[in-house]
Amino acid sequence: MTRILRRATLPVLTAGVLAALTAVPSGGVTGAAAPAPVDAPASTLVAVATNPYGASSATTGYTARARWTIDVLRDNRPMLTSCAHGNDGSHSGHTSDSYHYSGNAGDCYAGNTPGQYPGPIDKDQLQRAANFAVANAGPLKVEQVIWNGRIWTWPRRSEGWRTYTGGTGPVGGHYDHVHVSIARPGDGR
Ligand SMILES: [Zn+2]
Repeated sequence: MTRILRRATLPVLTAGVLAALTAVPSGGVTGAAAPAPVDAPASTLVAVATNPYGASSATTGYTARARWTIDVLRDNRPMLTSCAHGNDGSHSGHTSDSYHYSGNAGDCYAGNTPGQYPGPIDKDQLQRAANFAVANAGPLKVEQVIWNGRIWTWPRRSEGWRTYTGGTGPVGGHYDHVHVSIARPGDGR
């Protein structure tokens, strides 16, 4: 029983310490760990394999390439509770050129309620997921990430995060989920 408890609590303590160190670049760590700031630098680059699948389109669900990237993202950010909205065939609910319609995009949540602004803990987890996707965009073939009113794209990666103007509010502004697009046919990668 003791061993089970210790194994269960150790990752929580580790994550809390890391969050505190990230949020407080200098000086002592006092009090509870604060959420990472919105403009936190990309999380440590984790060595990941290059996505082995070529660009393609799927009429339902995810392409093999997108499925692979989403799986790697979730393996590395286990606090994500879902990454949904592969191509469901309805072609509604997103802008006409959305990567969702070819099965090349996922919307990830961290247990927060869709349609509502997340609390600080879920927001921190979503920020980490967005950071991971950006930091590993090369091997993961990530083409765009939309999160927290901002957008990052591979072609303009030198500009970092930019203001997202494609929508507002918790859903349209992408405050309640992290949208990840994977390079599709025509993106040249
Ligand atoms: Zn989306």
